[in-house]
Amino acid sequence: MSETLENLSSETRQFPPPADLAANANVKADAYEEAAADRLAFWAKQAERLAWAKPWDQILDWSNPPFAKWFVGGELNIAYNCVDRHVEAGNGDKVAIHWEGEPGDTRTVTYSDLLKLVSQAANTLTDLGVTAGDRVMIYMPMIPEAAVAMLACARIGATHSVVFGGFSVDALATRIDDADAKVVITADGGYRRGKPSALKPTVDEAVARTGRIEHVLVVRRTGQEVEWTDKDKWWHETVEQASPTHEAQAFDSEHPLFILYTSGTTGKPKGILHTTGGYLTQTSYTHHAVFDLKADTDVYWCTADIGWVTGHSYIVYGPLSNGATQVMYEGTPDTPDRGRFWQIVDKYKVSILYTAPTLIRTMMKWGDDIPAKYDLSSLRVLGSVGEPINPEAWIWYREHVGRERTPIVDTWWQTETGAIMISPLPGVTAAKPGSAMTALPGIGADVIDDQAQSVPNGGGGFLVLTEPWPSMLRTIWGDDQRFIDTYWSRFDGYYFAGDGAKKDADGALWLLGRVDDVMLVSGHNISTTEVESALVSHPSVAEAAVVGATDPTTGQAIVAFTIPRGNVDTAGDAGEALIKDLRNHVAKTLGPIAKPRQIMLVAELPKTRSGKIMRRLLRDVAENRSLGDVTTLQDSTVMDLISSGLKTAKPED
Ligand code: ATP
Ligand code: MG
Repeated sequence: MSETLENLSSETRQFPPPADLAANANVKADAYEEAAADRLAFWAKQAERLAWAKPWDQILDWSNPPFAKWFVGGELNIAYNCVDRHVEAGNGDKVAIHWEGEPGDTRTVTYSDLLKLVSQAANTLTDLGVTAGDRVMIYMPMIPEAAVAMLACARIGATHSVVFGGFSVDALATRIDDADAKVVITADGGYRRGKPSALKPTVDEAVARTGRIEHVLVVRRTGQEVEWTDKDKWWHETVEQASPTHEAQAFDSEHPLFILYTSGTTGKPKGILHTTGGYLTQTSYTHHAVFDLKADTDVYWCTADIGWVTGHSYIVYGPLSNGATQVMYEGTPDTPDRGRFWQIVDKYKVSILYTAPTLIRTMMKWGDDIPAKYDLSSLRVLGSVGEPINPEAWIWYREHVGRERTPIVDTWWQTETGAIMISPLPGVTAAKPGSAMTALPGIGADVIDDQAQSVPNGGGGFLVLTEPWPSMLRTIWGDDQRFIDTYWSRFDGYYFAGDGAKKDADGALWLLGRVDDVMLVSGHNISTTEVESALVSHPSVAEAAVVGATDPTTGQAIVAFTIPRGNVDTAGDAGEALIKDLRNHVAKTLGPIAKPRQIMLVAELPKTRSGKIMRRLLRDVAENRSLGDVTTLQDSTVMDLISSGLKTAKPED
């Protein structure tokens, strides 16, 4: 018998695109047919949206799988594509970045400003001895210089590795060592939760520990006091004094662009290597297609941090290659108050918003009345990325943010895929709440069972990618064997993503969470996502995480950790009653097999610094084990709270 995942939930709601958006969409239904007829020709056409210094000889070399080469022999400069060519086209005065600091200070960066800054930074890095192929670490707050630093590296062919500004000395030092970097670009600090938060001391310690770093370039953002070493140079004394002209040299299509470590939800992060031509082709095309970006009128805002792949592909490379005007925000969503995001949308008339389910669920928890206070009528496309979005969170997003008008694109992809792979197209797809729907034109995806057979509609199993794609990872930095073992060895000829998925009755794709998290209850493989979504569909619940814990009778039993919505009373008997109600609600929604053995009401869930739920830690708690790797955990006190609560809670019948 082949092993598959249960398909327990069903969803009948569907939202077709607004007529005017459909009529004027950048990409229409014919793109699927065009790509199906000739996939490589389709990608070659998308590559032509970029400026190449030398045309390629071959679209794809897949003669040595899983090591792909795209646009072989072609040459281009990424920074030229993201900056110079827009200025040359007469758009130098166009705003590239509306930057909003957390304290409310602002900056407007035009494409001409960006060209000057990137050229100056490229000249400075060159003066510091950085040459093509060298690695540069970037450890920065969300300020325009972070994007400038990335583009300056790309411009001179240096490989950047951005480390999220909230990571510890240890995390930074291990990444510096793994990437063998020689320069760090950082800042004194950045503003978070209403006060300056230092970055430089972490860099100082990491640099002292690794001994590899020759220079540290420091942006002055907060003005807070910093220690100074002979490796340190102020950005304003070097970059801002450097020559504002720099001639961009073209690099090979397969030249390394960046190494980015995965966010560490499932374990130790992996250094994912991306290269030049294919990566820019797919980030640029998907940004144009999935968000329907109209460069002349849209104001785009992606709320991710630049330290994650979403920030790389959909703040820097995708939007800038398309000449977009975007908002960049430094701080947290609740500073100075919980309306900050909606105030920013209102202020800049944001028309495309790209955020994460964790934020949407947090906003649900905070209450509908907050977004209701703002004018959000400028919004026309909403996006989601990072985790499965529960149908109720999707509906909340559409109602309270999109005001029942805007399409929502639920975009599935990974650090490894580099760009969006599975998503609705906002002018084409009648989207179902909670479904990423279908593979984009030119992308091959399937759901298979453990015998590598495609599951029929209505079935669940393993999500795989069936064809190489332009922005695919090229390897794990320094470890080709781990690259092969991790992604290409489970199913012959397919890339295995690590995620479970199902096809509904119409063949639409639903992501079901990590296969490592799947629960085996009385012989049924049950996905965490379906049980969590059933819990979130209860009006009292904002967020939920479920795990399978060893159980003497059922093998594993479902243990749920649930965050109630803000206005819900959970004291004493009310809490007991709610738990009972929730268990019955899940049983009614998904069937008795999915009824949780135990539900805990909690105030917070353990999340990675990118906001994803870390179920493996909850499993450790539910099974009374000591915790696994917690270095990517956002707030370590959360686990103490949850474990102490769990010990006093009694299991139910
Ligand atoms: P690590 O690989 O180190 O455990 P990670 O997988 O969390 O970390 P990322 O590359 O940032 O690191 O996340 C990619 C994963 O996020 C996907 O494999 C998937 O599990 C999840 N994901 C992203 N977007 C979606 C989405 N739209 N729907 C469902 N899941 C998503
Ligand atoms: Mg992963």
